[in-house]
Amino acid sequence: MNIHEYQAKELLAKFGVPVPAGHAAMSVEEAVAATAKLPGPLYVVKAQIHAGGRGKGKFKELPPEAKGGVRLAKTADEVRAHATDMLGNTLVTIQTGPAGKQVNRLYVTDGVDIEKEFYLAMLVDRATGRIAIVASTEGGMDIEEVAHHSPEKIHTITIDPATGVMPHHGRAVAAALGLSGDLAKQAENITLKLYDAFIGTDASQMEINPLAITGAGALMVLDAKVGFDSNALYRHPDLVALRDLTEEDPAEVEASKYDLAFIKLDGNIGCLVNGAGLAMATMDIIKLNGAEPANFLDVGGGASKEKVTAAFKLILQDPAVKGILVNIFGGIMRCDIIAEGIIAAAKEVSLAVPLVVRLEGTNVELGKEILANSGLPIVSADNLGDAAAKIVAEVKKAA
Ligand code: ADP
Ligand code: MG
Repeated sequence: MNIHEYQAKELLAKFGVPVPAGHAAMSVEEAVAATAKLPGPLYVVKAQIHAGGRGKGKFKELPPEAKGGVRLAKTADEVRAHATDMLGNTLVTIQTGPAGKQVNRLYVTDGVDIEKEFYLAMLVDRATGRIAIVASTEGGMDIEEVAHHSPEKIHTITIDPATGVMPHHGRAVAAALGLSGDLAKQAENITLKLYDAFIGTDASQMEINPLAITGAGALMVLDAKVGFDSNALYRHPDLVALRDLTEEDPAEVEASKYDLAFIKLDGNIGCLVNGAGLAMATMDIIKLNGAEPANFLDVGGGASKEKVTAAFKLILQDPAVKGILVNIFGGIMRCDIIAEGIIAAAKEVSLAVPLVVRLEGTNVELGKEILANSGLPIVSADNLGDAAAKIVAEVKKAA
């Protein structure tokens, strides 16, 4: 789960990380009112969407020469003009994809006099199984370019979970950023606080870009992108409250209501599978047969009739889906119960695309018999290879 920049900054501030003052605004009037609460003389109006690259982004509804999603303002009137330009319009950035994202919230923040911009991130590094700090002197809006063309300018420091963060990690960050004296101390302090925030919130990533040196010689977080481990959210009801559903894929939001693990993909074969490993294998074998999966969908071990129905509906909502492959291993669940669930769901959603079902496990014969006697045009498959070949053939035949 990701949150907005303003939420991330409020969170980091609670852990003692230095951020400029700022206020979220849902309307032009709120944006203007925020200026009265800030010291001035410079304000920054920032579009709040769950994507980076806002500064260099473009609004679909505005002429191409119009400014992007991060704009400086010197007066309340300028803030009003920027807020009017941004709210309700669609911002397209390098991270949103061509469709862009509608801007429904703004952040009006203190304009900082920037001397230098750094990059500082913390993430879960799967290769080492540790939290890694990534630091670079080349912060700002072109970090992707730096990573691509001059990877030597990006430093990675991993933290042993047995010790947690130590002062030497902070010193390594300061050294990577080329800082000494008081600025080095500030960098150490921010590193330790950031780690506390990371662990304390079960974060999956915290990306600060830029971390700026201000004219007054202070290090400050000017942009923060924070994401949390969804599997740990049950421990953080305060974080769950920060979720902005309008930023998430509607199908994925619907799936989460039924506790289905669902990720939309670009292909045309819908997959309904129990178990993440089996779901991955199913997607692989569809590709092996020359087609592409339309989604990843894991209905979980206890796939009930309700879950199977909800899953069918989700898959069929996607107009790209030209066929469905159900691949279920009846371990905890019995195959006959699953077969009944599939029939009920297929009837309820008036299935108009080919459906191939592969069942295996407890009561498999009974399950197959129930499907065969259902009168529905369900193609039964005997194993994973057979199932994938059959659905790919059915979709080709129907095309
Ligand atoms: P994004 O990464 O989505 O483009 P940022 O928040 O990083 O958005 O803003 C882009 C750039 O705008 C920053 O690299 C920085 O130069 C400038 N900027 C952002 N916030 C401030 C601020 N509070 N004061 C001054 N400049 C800022
Ligand atoms: Mg940024």
